[in-house]
Amino acid sequence: MTRRFLMVPFLLALAAAPHAAAQAPTPQAAPAKVPFSRLKADFIEAYWRQNPESAVGAGYYKYADRLPIPDAVERRRSFSFASQWLRAFKEVDERALEVPERIDLRLIRGQLEAEHWYANTFKSHQWDPSNYNVAGTFGLLLGTEYAPLETRLRTVAKRLPKVAPYYAAAKANLKGPTLEHTQLAILQNKGALGVFGEGFLKQVDGSQLSAAEKARIKEDAGRAKAAVQDYITHLEGLETKLKASGARSFRIGKDLFEQSFFHSIQADCTAEELYRRALAEKEKLHARMAETARQLWPKYFGAEPMPADRLDLIGRMVEKLSQNHVTAEGFVAEVKRQIPLLESWVREHGLVELDPSKPLVVRETPEYMRGVAGASISAPGPYDPKANTYYNVTPLEGTAAQKESYLREYNEYILQVLNIHEAVPGHYVQLLHANKSPSLVKAIFGNGAMVEGWAVYSERMMLESGYGGNTPEMWLMYSKWNLRVVCNAILDYSVHVQGMTEEQAMKLLVREAFQQDTEAREKWHRAQVTSVQLSSYFAGYAAIYDLREQLKTRQGAAFDLKRFHEQFLGYGSAPVKFIRELMLSKP
Ligand code: ZN
Ligand code: ZN
Repeated sequence: MTRRFLMVPFLLALAAAPHAAAQAPTPQAAPAKVPFSRLKADFIEAYWRQNPESAVGAGYYKYADRLPIPDAVERRRSFSFASQWLRAFKEVDERALEVPERIDLRLIRGQLEAEHWYANTFKSHQWDPSNYNVAGTFGLLLGTEYAPLETRLRTVAKRLPKVAPYYAAAKANLKGPTLEHTQLAILQNKGALGVFGEGFLKQVDGSQLSAAEKARIKEDAGRAKAAVQDYITHLEGLETKLKASGARSFRIGKDLFEQSFFHSIQADCTAEELYRRALAEKEKLHARMAETARQLWPKYFGAEPMPADRLDLIGRMVEKLSQNHVTAEGFVAEVKRQIPLLESWVREHGLVELDPSKPLVVRETPEYMRGVAGASISAPGPYDPKANTYYNVTPLEGTAAQKESYLREYNEYILQVLNIHEAVPGHYVQLLHANKSPSLVKAIFGNGAMVEGWAVYSERMMLESGYGGNTPEMWLMYSKWNLRVVCNAILDYSVHVQGMTEEQAMKLLVREAFQQDTEAREKWHRAQVTSVQLSSYFAGYAAIYDLREQLKTRQGAAFDLKRFHEQFLGYGSAPVKFIRELMLSKP
């Protein structure tokens, strides 16, 4: 899954401090006298007023007509907002709260502390030009039917004149950006131009707006588009300079990595501990995969001698099985075909509840969202649970060789695992449950590692239930996919902390994780422009798997898999360590 609003709340918050907004509301009375539920509700309202773009991402449109200008004044305002609320929540007596409330409190504190840290220490508003992109919110306002088209267009009309000052502030913020983030920003903002393109003009023409309104909005959209183009041109100039004279390194280093890991993963372990566990897991997977490959060899290679080297042996077998794949043209259709099959399996095997009233809509990824990953879920936020959940699948692009490489990566076996991960019973199903959670705080400030961890856990759980026929082929290819999650964590730490080179990264991904060239290069790119996020999958997966095994041991014959899943998901997207505390506190 890529960037739903849950995944980057603090970064959005930084880029989204309101401009010329009413004075940021402060906690009213002495918090000790205000019930926690009231304090929470006040905070969330104030938070949305402070961060209208995040609010739109969450499906809350009250402040949607404001486009915050990310300048220094607003950053200070945002910072003092976080300070004031942090003080208020620190005064709440945690011991007086029920456990679920206690988790809400910790999530809020964690969020505010993270915002402080990202603003004061991480400072990506200075070195990451891809922090600035207006397309996401405009895209949501134009593409989500939360109100009549005319209302939405009028909201858009109020935001359009702010686009130019927004990008002017963005340009002023940039101090020594990295080359890689500059290039990412160029790519993504080029995609942003499409938001004000023909589709938008058609929407305006087809609306009931007056002729004067239509003319005005088109004119303002033209200026907004020019501002985006100006930012792109500015960045392209910067890119040339950075290439010539050197740029800030994209590697964030050990200190920032550990701290960012602490704030965003909220795991029980340090980043270094997780890295070591991932190394051990890689070794275990290699051993098991070699065993399976040995078993399969005669079936696929007859009397041909087996390679002596373990990685060669696995690699040959994986390569052979990868030849089994759909065509480039049939890729999106095949994804569509598989979703109902996965749903039937989950239902028939009693693995977890589904909700047929909220079906998943498979679509081609909108332009402005492209650039990082190949498939992602766009889920309805907690405020508009009736909105569509989209499964964005990016149609294959590029040369015939690039397409073939991609198709081999997402072969017959792996494509099924991908659909489990993104859709059923992975992200889509987890989000259905999260939105049912009565805790708005958990739905809004959810933990990315838990979200990714669930999706990764669900892959293994499906195979354990017999999905895919329990064949050695399916298990081998699943293991290859799981190895990818393990190597994501290794790559992330190695790149940012240990200075791993592109050549070393390619060796890890291609030789030791059996990835195709295209996939490996994309991953190397992602490792450069993100940090810690690639570790979240393995961190969450390991924690969920451990919790399940612990409960199995404890409950013995009374352990019920579906009940475990329902309970686990019922807490919403909280850090696994908090859910663990809740589940283990049950008699
Ligand atoms: Zn995911
Ligand atoms: Zn082929």
